[in-house]
Amino acid sequence: MSAAQLVNPATEQPLDRVEHTEAAAVDDAVARAHAAQRRWSRLAPAARAERLRAFATVVDAHVGELAALEVANSGHPVSAAEWEAGHVRDVLQFYAASPERLSGQQIPVADGLDVTFHEPLGVVAVITPWNFPMPIACWGFAPALAAGNAVLVKPAEWTPLTTLRLGELAAEAGLDPDLLQVLPGQGAVVGEALVTHPDVRKIVFTGSTVTGTRVMAAAATQVKRVTLELGGKSANIVFDDCDLERAAATAPYGVFDNAGQDCCARSRILVQRSVYDRFMELLEPAVSGVVVGDPASRDTEMGPLVSRPHWEKVASYVPDDAPVAFRGGAPDGPGFWFAPTVLTPNRTDRTVTEEIFGPVVTVLRFDDEADAIALANDTMFGLSGSIWTDDLSRALRVARAVEAGNLSVNSHSSVRYATPFGGFKRSGLGRELGPDAPLAFTDTKNVFIAVKEAP
Ligand code: ADP
Repeated sequence: MSAAQLVNPATEQPLDRVEHTEAAAVDDAVARAHAAQRRWSRLAPAARAERLRAFATVVDAHVGELAALEVANSGHPVSAAEWEAGHVRDVLQFYAASPERLSGQQIPVADGLDVTFHEPLGVVAVITPWNFPMPIACWGFAPALAAGNAVLVKPAEWTPLTTLRLGELAAEAGLDPDLLQVLPGQGAVVGEALVTHPDVRKIVFTGSTVTGTRVMAAAATQVKRVTLELGGKSANIVFDDCDLERAAATAPYGVFDNAGQDCCARSRILVQRSVYDRFMELLEPAVSGVVVGDPASRDTEMGPLVSRPHWEKVASYVPDDAPVAFRGGAPDGPGFWFAPTVLTPNRTDRTVTEEIFGPVVTVLRFDDEADAIALANDTMFGLSGSIWTDDLSRALRVARAVEAGNLSVNSHSSVRYATPFGGFKRSGLGRELGPDAPLAFTDTKNVFIAVKEAP
């Protein structure tokens, strides 16, 4: 049994060692999940709803503990980590309503009765990345459980602690321990074993576009369902008719949230040429005002990057001769600190085209609405984006023209559990969250019952 040594990214001090699941143990986990799923799906919908509510209640009682674990393991600021743990509770509560609402249709036919059922898929796997371990895990397991499935969660190698704890809390809340299992381990071992297992009926994968492509190709050999949430390079479009002060004051939060390790990060700021100079004057103090430091402090707005290898990747985008407009502050080591950085490169630079996944934002000028739309769409990604304008017609025109799944006007909001979330183009496939998410964990069955003519 191999084990991984975890490291606190703010101090570089060792944390727990976590035992990795071996590929052979995945078979056993799937078999147990399969048996648990049969029992779960036969429960009355109201009983399943009640168990999910109980799970939410137990999570609520452990928000502080879960947040402290995430602060230590991922370096998230404590206020953000508390929000993330509370979000798990809210998502569970939201989908607790679903078992009693997943109704099929009755289709009019002349010769009998025709009805549809939304049958659970069976055992599904949720493979999560290291950037938002708790929210991303629950976006998969909450609607999947609500629809009558069993779930195996494979957390990312660097950040398994909160997911492991959520698995324990589910059992404390009375869920069958085999129904929601957490399998820490390597992507190439546990992740691949889940993707290729014939009894795992769906993969919900969140991570890089490169790995997501590999997962989709492997799943295709079994016509296995996939939902993919992949990378992003979202635009924050600032028109000259907007509230420029607000646009500049909030721009850092649109990209430096979670130290930029956020697939929804608005990492390309596009500013109309006529207000560019004024916007940059306003942006500079907003960036230097971002409080970067000890994630356990309530004043902290941005913590460290998650790991040394990731720090090195982000740093490679800001060499000594990079076109840095200005930077914020960050503590000296130890810890994987990276100062918020604003670059003014040309339109084809790799900092504009590639996902950096760190606190680095590029600012480009545009001339008019058509130019802004063309620039925003000049990417293989299409996850989110913001549009700053006081002209409602323009806001709607641009929102409809930008090829992305989640757009916000005069805001940087991306994720609300009641609304669907997911990407266009290579940012992903399928949608998570929103009222229809449980349906994505079902197959539709049509049953026709012939009725004999009256004698
Ligand atoms: P990163 O965001 O670090 O680039 P990935 O996108 O590769 O990471 O990883 C996201 C998740 O996918 C992690 O839980 C990782 O362990 C897992 N993973 C990595 N490779 C594979 C694979 N070949 N099959 C299934 N899961 C994988």
